[in-house]
Amino acid sequence: MKMEGESALLKKNFIEWRFSQYPKYILLPIDENHDQIRSNIKNVIYSEVTPRPLERNVRLVCASEAALTNILDMNPDMMLSSDFVEFIAGRKLPYGALPVAHRYGGHQYGLWVGQLGDGRAHIIGEYVNKLGQRWQIQLKGSGQTPYSRTHDGRSVLRACIREMIASEACYHLGVPTTRAGAVVVSDEMVVRDVYYTGTPRREKAAVLLRLAPSFFRFGSLEVLSRSGELAVLKQLADFVIKEYYPDIHLTDENRFIRLFSEIAHRTLDLVAKWHGVGFTHGLLNTDNMSLLGLTLDYGPFGFLDSYDGGFVANCCDGEGRYALAKQPDVVVWNIGQLASALKPLLSASQQVHMSHILKTLDTYCKNKILETFLMKIGLKEERWGDEQLVEKLLDMMQQTGADFTATFRQLAELEPSEMVSEAKLAEKWSLKRLASHASWGCWLDQYRERLDKEAVDASSVGVFEDERRRRMLGANPAYVPRSWLLHEAILDAERDDFGKVRFLLEVMRHPYDIQPEAEKRGFSAQPPQWAYELKISCST
Ligand code: AMP
Ligand code: MG
Repeated sequence: MKMEGESALLKKNFIEWRFSQYPKYILLPIDENHDQIRSNIKNVIYSEVTPRPLERNVRLVCASEAALTNILDMNPDMMLSSDFVEFIAGRKLPYGALPVAHRYGGHQYGLWVGQLGDGRAHIIGEYVNKLGQRWQIQLKGSGQTPYSRTHDGRSVLRACIREMIASEACYHLGVPTTRAGAVVVSDEMVVRDVYYTGTPRREKAAVLLRLAPSFFRFGSLEVLSRSGELAVLKQLADFVIKEYYPDIHLTDENRFIRLFSEIAHRTLDLVAKWHGVGFTHGLLNTDNMSLLGLTLDYGPFGFLDSYDGGFVANCCDGEGRYALAKQPDVVVWNIGQLASALKPLLSASQQVHMSHILKTLDTYCKNKILETFLMKIGLKEERWGDEQLVEKLLDMMQQTGADFTATFRQLAELEPSEMVSEAKLAEKWSLKRLASHASWGCWLDQYRERLDKEAVDASSVGVFEDERRRRMLGANPAYVPRSWLLHEAILDAERDDFGKVRFLLEVMRHPYDIQPEAEKRGFSAQPPQWAYELKISCST
């Protein structure tokens, strides 16, 4: 509950809501040669370009009250106003707006592809909220920019809904992420060949309001480094340090190494968090890797149903480059590209230092992931044999097709002594499946032994068991935005019924708490059979 005084500080109507400060990005080079698509823009970080508003019957699909009130100081009533809808649609820019598209490049599927950039997104300004935090406001799907290449500058409804729900869910799950404020849809149609089968279909265009302290990517630095724009590269690296890594001093001659190390470790901390919730990003190109260690650019992502290390969320990823279990390796590879981008700013000895850091990253990530899984099974610190205990559990899950989210949750819901009882297991659909594995009894004995070791250090076994369950319930969500839930919500939304989208968004505000209505709708039950055959396309 908000205190009365606090909610009085929230802006009630759009006229009052404005950018009170210049965005910091005006300190960076901005190209003023607007509105023309160009393939080779040089020596700028942004291009000034106004959104092309969505036309035709624009309406609100959903809004994140948590993001709008806590980040943008907006009173929830504001979401109901036509001004708000026009704002998201790109028609009504707030006072003080300076719309720009960001120039970046990237490696896609392991290959350098040169300049990409915001081809359908506009950063329209920076809002400094009542906590003094500075947030960039971005519209995605808001029309062409100089970086649109051959594309239409639009986003489709299904993609906006997926990004909206997943980013807010990740936030509430405790996974660092960009945020999402709202989605609007229109009757303007765009054409997408969803599965690239030569059968394009018409879809409704939509816009997503995205929020982040910054949308800079590895590719922001890569494009400058690759094209030899070293003064601008240095300017951007220093800007990132000053604005987003204030613990690093601008006078420190090793600052770029420190920046690299910070970004690398934050990014791998993020990967460990993804693995803890069974999240596969699906498109880990370097243009989708945040310089702040945030989950960025939700496209063909997937939250696991059955556990499978080889799970590939993105059906356009034929070789499985971005499979779940490959995420650590591919992210370390991406960090290697970031290292290459920063190299021109380093002395020979600093370059050696950087390559030493790079060599430690595989192990760092592996340990972080192990730490995450130990927390998920209720263990506070690693002891000898724990790695095998976790590996064995995941092997059994993979072999039995046990559900990722439900298995861990259900491990938290039973006492270890109950996990051999047929009657108790019958109430836990995923654990029951896992318990059909020939090695289940043996694993459970080892797990109980391991818990006993930890309990010896606690004042009493009963207290320890309560504490274990409490910790595990806080580390293992009951709900994640599974593909089938998103799919059903999107089908309805495409027919203008936004009830399921809004409900899913609401449930994901409290993913660790059992919610009766979500239970009734089967959000933590075994997914329907068709869920396992769903394909997620990279076309958005
Ligand atoms: P993504 O696959 O969404 O990470 O996008 C890769 C690049 O393609 C980015 O530079 C996007 O801005 C651009 N892009 C994707 N879809 C569109 C579109 N419909 N219109 C313009 N640019 C797009
Ligand atoms: Mg992208």
